[in-house]
Amino acid sequence: MNSLKTFHELGLNPEIVQALDALGFETPTPIQEQAIPFLLETNTDLVALAQTGTGKTAAFGLPLLQKLDPFAMELQALVLSPTRELCMQISNDLKAFAKHLPSAKIVSVYGGAPIGGQISQLRKFPQIIVATPGRLMDLMDRGAVDLSELKYVVLDEADQMLNMGFAEDMEKILAHTPKEKNTALFSATMPNEIRRIANQYLSGAHEITVGKKNASQSNITHQYALVDRSNKYTALRRVLDTIPDFYGIVFCRTKIETQELADKIMRDGYNADALHGDLSQQYRDRVMDRFREKTLSVLLATDVAARGIDVDSLTHVIHYSLPTDNESYTHRSGRTARAGKTGISLSIITPSDKKRIPEIERQTNVKLERYMLPTSTDMLKVRMSSFTDQILAAEAGTFERHDGLLEIAQRLEQLSKEELMDRLFGMESEQFLRDEREQADLNLIEYGKVRDKNLVRLFINLGLKDGLNAGNLVKMIADYTQLPIKSVPDIAVKGVYTFFRVPKEESDVIVKMFTETPAYFGDRQVRIEVADPNDSQNSGGGDRGGRGGYGGGNRGGGYGGGGYGGGGGNRGGYGGGGGRDRDRGGRDGGRGGYGGGGGYGGGGGGAKSSYGGENRDRRSGGNSGGGRRGSGRFE
Ligand code: AMP
Repeated sequence: MNSLKTFHELGLNPEIVQALDALGFETPTPIQEQAIPFLLETNTDLVALAQTGTGKTAAFGLPLLQKLDPFAMELQALVLSPTRELCMQISNDLKAFAKHLPSAKIVSVYGGAPIGGQISQLRKFPQIIVATPGRLMDLMDRGAVDLSELKYVVLDEADQMLNMGFAEDMEKILAHTPKEKNTALFSATMPNEIRRIANQYLSGAHEITVGKKNASQSNITHQYALVDRSNKYTALRRVLDTIPDFYGIVFCRTKIETQELADKIMRDGYNADALHGDLSQQYRDRVMDRFREKTLSVLLATDVAARGIDVDSLTHVIHYSLPTDNESYTHRSGRTARAGKTGISLSIITPSDKKRIPEIERQTNVKLERYMLPTSTDMLKVRMSSFTDQILAAEAGTFERHDGLLEIAQRLEQLSKEELMDRLFGMESEQFLRDEREQADLNLIEYGKVRDKNLVRLFINLGLKDGLNAGNLVKMIADYTQLPIKSVPDIAVKGVYTFFRVPKEESDVIVKMFTETPAYFGDRQVRIEVADPNDSQNSGGGDRGGRGGYGGGNRGGGYGGGGYGGGGGNRGGYGGGGGRDRDRGGRDGGRGGYGGGGGYGGGGGGAKSSYGGENRDRRSGGNSGGGRRGSGRFE
């Protein structure tokens, strides 16, 4: 991407090049390479389609500074930008570029700051004004600013000004500018309304595009995680927990959502804070300072508040809620991967958001990859690793400081180092496993994706209401059939039924085994059959499973769904999911239970085998419940 040209070769004066050197700008970015010579050499309007982070401020700012008449007293250039933050950013950049141009005067005016100070700044004959549309209108109404001698107008992030409802203000402002002037319009996207404004207020504009039209920068990896609505928060935490150098913005849709999420995540101990319009300007400035200096690594923000954020080296942009319009997705994502760096734009979506993915892909011209959230095993590893870090970092010398501790500790001497480690880890992991949320496999399985002829679509009469999920379904089938199934593609877990696909050979075995030998999931007999071939990809078809007719009696522990201590009821459940020991439920009368409590607590045996049944014997009887943590409730 690096240009062979230097800033000097683009036609910039030595004073400006010297300032750029000091800023560490070595080579022009593509938009600079195209826009700078054009703006320097011609007096033609310009429409530039460029994302944020491409260096567009210098692309319009450097020619502006070079072409200014340093001795004229009138206001010569206006830069309109959508937000206060962006205004400040642009004027700071321009001032840095103008370091060796002592007579260049730049003033920025924006809402949320006292207008009096801005009026007095304007009285000092600046040549460039950087403004938000609302505040500029206000100043114009007060007669504090005169646009009649303007020679240059820049509309920056024009699409965003439109999104923020500034179209009317923008047009009013343009109507107050002289006809003879040069206008440059910068926009990340080119919706029809921008096209109309360009046609109306610019004449014979030259158009440049950096990268593909409407494309996001190629150094951004776009991903999405698909989770249940109730798991979004846990999903976010898993991302933050497993990416130690995370430094990014988490976008929410509303101020309330932003604040609530910020409160929650701060309570959970993350270095985070919120940025939205209901916070005082002072607070917002403080938050931004802390974020810039990386005291905060997670910034929760609304689209509007984050608009002007120009922080390099963000590793991630997270869309905790997708924006209502697809263009904002591009804007949000552009906050990462700035100045040649790479970054990740990750959307945490729920099934109802799925239809937005192809729309966003069209908008960005980039394919969104599926991101599989860390599993509970991954999270356990993270937890144990940080536990180990804590041990290693812990201060030694406790025995010396407190009398009598050594004698107590000596009781541990009978344990070998390995045994001690095992127990310490056991205790820590037990705490982790106690939290049901930590157990769940949050990744929802996508359906409608796999269209492989060798796969057969199966129906099972269990769904979300039964606590079925992709993880425990796979496990149940693999355990029951002993087939080496590790995952099944295309699972659609619905309320009371589920569709999934398996290779033809496996489907034959599965259907045969589940038909011949009844298996139970909780207290429901499992029914698996080949789905209607005409029912092919869509998973509609109503409630095939029906809920009545199975079971009877109290429900057992249920299969998975993070249930601990399962068991109970008339039958042991196939409980738990994700447990370690999977102690079987005890025998109680008729058949042994495979029950409950996966790993913890074993779960009481049932009156009837929940899994396997007497014929199969695989799961019958067995160690009676009572795993490590409390036995099942069945008595
Ligand atoms: P912008 O798109 O103007 O917001 O610029 C994005 C970031 O890139 C800012 O941090 C600029 O300081 C930086 N930048 C702009 N042009 C260059 C360049 N030619 N070389 C290095 N960094 C640049």
